[in-house]
Amino acid sequence: MKKGIAILGSTGSIGTQALEVIENYPDKFDLQVITANRNADLLIEQAIKHQPNTVVIVDESKFEQVKSALWEHEIHVYAGEDALAQVVEGNEIHTVLTALVGYAGLKPTLRAIEAKKTIALANKETLVVAGELVTKMARENGVNIYPVDSEHSAIFQCLVGDFENKIEKIYLTASGGPFRGYTKDQLAAVTKAQALKHPNWEMGAKITIDSASLMNKGLEVIEAKWLFNLRPDQIDTIVHPQSIVHSLVQFEDGSMKAQMGLPDMKLPIQYALTYPERFKTDFPRFNFMDYPQLTFEKADADTFKNLNLAYKAMEMEGTAACALNAANEVSVQAFLEEKISFLAIADINEAVLMQTPNSLSPVYEDYVNTDKLAREKAWEMVKNFNK
Ligand code: NDP
Repeated sequence: MKKGIAILGSTGSIGTQALEVIENYPDKFDLQVITANRNADLLIEQAIKHQPNTVVIVDESKFEQVKSALWEHEIHVYAGEDALAQVVEGNEIHTVLTALVGYAGLKPTLRAIEAKKTIALANKETLVVAGELVTKMARENGVNIYPVDSEHSAIFQCLVGDFENKIEKIYLTASGGPFRGYTKDQLAAVTKAQALKHPNWEMGAKITIDSASLMNKGLEVIEAKWLFNLRPDQIDTIVHPQSIVHSLVQFEDGSMKAQMGLPDMKLPIQYALTYPERFKTDFPRFNFMDYPQLTFEKADADTFKNLNLAYKAMEMEGTAACALNAANEVSVQAFLEEKISFLAIADINEAVLMQTPNSLSPVYEDYVNTDKLAREKAWEMVKNFNK
């Protein structure tokens, strides 16, 4: 039987690669839903090509455009945030791939879990914001969350066959981004164009900036805590500029398992959709002769303080990581709009994390309120940085 798939955020970097994966196995996957925020043109093009049952455009002003382009193709069209959350409940959907960016992923992911859909999770912010609630609901509903993030997919792949054995620690690898080795003085002057040039991966703008500021690794540390039920002291990071070793698990007997391969997000996307099977691909293969050296070094968390802020937020528990995430979404947006400098991103994140009230044992509304408050504070700070 074909697996029904919904892709939330089909017009993004992960979403478009997921469509390529699905297109390669027409007898295995049945594309049910695709969604976009504002990019109506690409959403229409994707819908005509891939013929899903339903599309959602979040921006309601684009509804008529999408509707009129797709009516003759007999594709259902909906608009708005509520539609995005509702559409995951369709009976034909088996797996929801959360490929949208940021806090916006939380609500539809929770709805998909309630509807007992398997989650292929790219949207790490969902676990950063509300990992406690999301994993609790997944347990209660018997829902599996399979990671798409390459590092977490690597950890997951290392654990296959070893689920009963205790993890001593994990190492999440990091490329170090475009500013690896930079001093604070050098970072003070870096531009948006420089920050958007990732050495090894082509990704959406937000995660590319997060990679340059090491916030991405911080978010991944929090994501790993929830996905693999680990204490913060069991999660370490190691800079590996070649991005060939995608992450490692160290078991209690000291044995280490690593997952390797050329950097290509299509592989972890596909594995999250096909687990426990592996489908044959024609992706380029790794050649040892092209990489005579694989190197490892310590992350410079003094210069790139976002990484330590993530550990701080985990230590604080409650809604602290939600506040940090909100601050970071605002500060990254402000940097992309050239309103603040690169170093101001971490300064704003730190100030908002420390100043936003922390709700312990949070319920859904606490996350919503914290996100709102932290965003307001962060925008205030952006204005002050501008003065
Ligand atoms: P992109 O910015 O390329 O794409 C984001 C997608 O989400 C687009 O389809 C966009 O629609 C949609 N979207 C944006 N804002 C909203 C919103 N408010 N409501 C609903 N939909 C929205 O992001 P990426 O593909 O790079 O990243 C997606 C997620 O995957 C992120 O959480 C990221 O951290 C994670 N990830 C990405 C990797 C990568 O290689 N790109 C690697 C590992 C993880 P529109 O096009 O209309 O704006």
